[in-house]
Amino acid sequence: MAEPTGDFGLIGLAVMGQNLILNVNDHGYTVVAFNRTVSKVDRFLKNEAKGTNIIGASSIEDLVKKLKKPRKIMLLVKAGSAVDDFIEQIIPYLSIGDIIIDGGNSHFPDTIRRCKYLEEKKLLFIGCGVSGGEDGARYGPSLMPGGSKAAWEHVKPIFQSIAAKVNNEPCCDWVGETGAGHYVKMVHNGIEYGDMQLICEAYHLMKEGLGLSNDDIADVFVDWNKGELDSFLIDITKDIMRFKDEDGKPLVEKIKDTAGQKGTGKWTAISSLDLGVPVTLIGEAVYSRTLSALKDERVRASKILKGPHNTKFSGDKQKFVKQLGQALYASKLISYTQGFMLMREAAKDNNWDLNNAGIALMWRGGCIIRSAFLGDIKNAYTNNPKLENLLFDPFFKKAIEDAQDSWRYVISQAVLLGIPTPAFSTALAFYDGYRHEKLPANLLQAQRDYFGAHTFRFLDEYADEDHPKDTDV
Ligand code: NAP
Repeated sequence: MAEPTGDFGLIGLAVMGQNLILNVNDHGYTVVAFNRTVSKVDRFLKNEAKGTNIIGASSIEDLVKKLKKPRKIMLLVKAGSAVDDFIEQIIPYLSIGDIIIDGGNSHFPDTIRRCKYLEEKKLLFIGCGVSGGEDGARYGPSLMPGGSKAAWEHVKPIFQSIAAKVNNEPCCDWVGETGAGHYVKMVHNGIEYGDMQLICEAYHLMKEGLGLSNDDIADVFVDWNKGELDSFLIDITKDIMRFKDEDGKPLVEKIKDTAGQKGTGKWTAISSLDLGVPVTLIGEAVYSRTLSALKDERVRASKILKGPHNTKFSGDKQKFVKQLGQALYASKLISYTQGFMLMREAAKDNNWDLNNAGIALMWRGGCIIRSAFLGDIKNAYTNNPKLENLLFDPFFKKAIEDAQDSWRYVISQAVLLGIPTPAFSTALAFYDGYRHEKLPANLLQAQRDYFGAHTFRFLDEYADEDHPKDTDV
């Protein structure tokens, strides 16, 4: 039988898989492609993959036979049972040291379980976060691999060649053991929820509070994108604002205001509750989507419940827009601060040695939250790898202090006008809570003791390890 020539196997010929295969092929590797519905393999080879070196497989056995050892097989299929099903089907054909990679949006506890299961069989497993959508997959995604460390040296050259690059550095590095890659990807998605919600709140204030047109709002986003808010999401929002329907009216205004979700934001919020970390902004972003989904109820409420008399801003609009940009920046900084606080706790809990500067670099390019701001976060953690909190970095401490007057003013105006800004507001509440040496939890402890004999400690007994994670009343 002929020697196998495949460098990399990929299962899953939906949008992500097809694009990633073409990307790997572009970088000189021979990819073997397979899909549950096998007819899609032929269709792919005859169309998108025509003229490339991509090889098709007719079965799992055929796929494995066509790969050089140690075999590297990536799954890009629907997250959940499909991943377990494929793992079970592949195992019988593998040899010791072969590698299975799950590139889907799997929940990290599943990745931890799969990693342990395969290592018991002397096989290696990588759970890899892939971000950037289909364009990212095709031309350079952000890749967040974690799992069996021994697998990394084998996949590193392929992954780092296909990943997005910023200043020639790949947006892909080893994240950590077991489920670390998928955990970091989950937090990335949670932060994405937060960034999107913040932009939506800024749009709401400009539209309803200032009465700006969509084209005017687009101009604001263009302006913001030239400075510290420079990011993919601000950039695409400018295009969305400008996009007109056939009748010349902005299409965005015709879209029903009910947002869906696939679960990664919710997983992040749940993990923050489990670990006792105040990741309030992502939580608010998830709740904002669920509130938006109550459309029928909100329509009824809008006819019953009154807000303030004055709903239009009467001050200097141009100045307010500048202040709004500052408020957005400060709130975003809080969101990332909370995200890194969460990853720190998860790392402790799971024995992961997370490299914060590396994570910021992985998110700096290729993915949906890519931004200039992540370059500043990378610098903060490079300057001080043991930085306790992003807000303690001199650059960010100054940035948030410079922004805070505008931030407070914008939120106060939103409150007076009756325009909801849950993410902006929770960010400021976190900032004020975090910078308070004393919070009213002394009274809370006294109340708990009064009705439940929970006891309490005196101030001079205070120690950081007392950090309570119990959830009883
Ligand atoms: P998808 O729609 O999530 O999944 C379709 C693929 O999964 C097809 O190959 C399909 O095979 C296979 N599949 C579905 N159910 C299966 C089952 N029960 N058993 C075996 N195979 C099954 O595809 P996608 O959008 O390309 O995403 C792939 C993965 O990447 C997902 O985990 C997704 O969450 C993640 N992801 C997606 C994006 C994105 O922008 N789309 C971005 C980042 C990450 P058939 O052709 O036979 O139906």
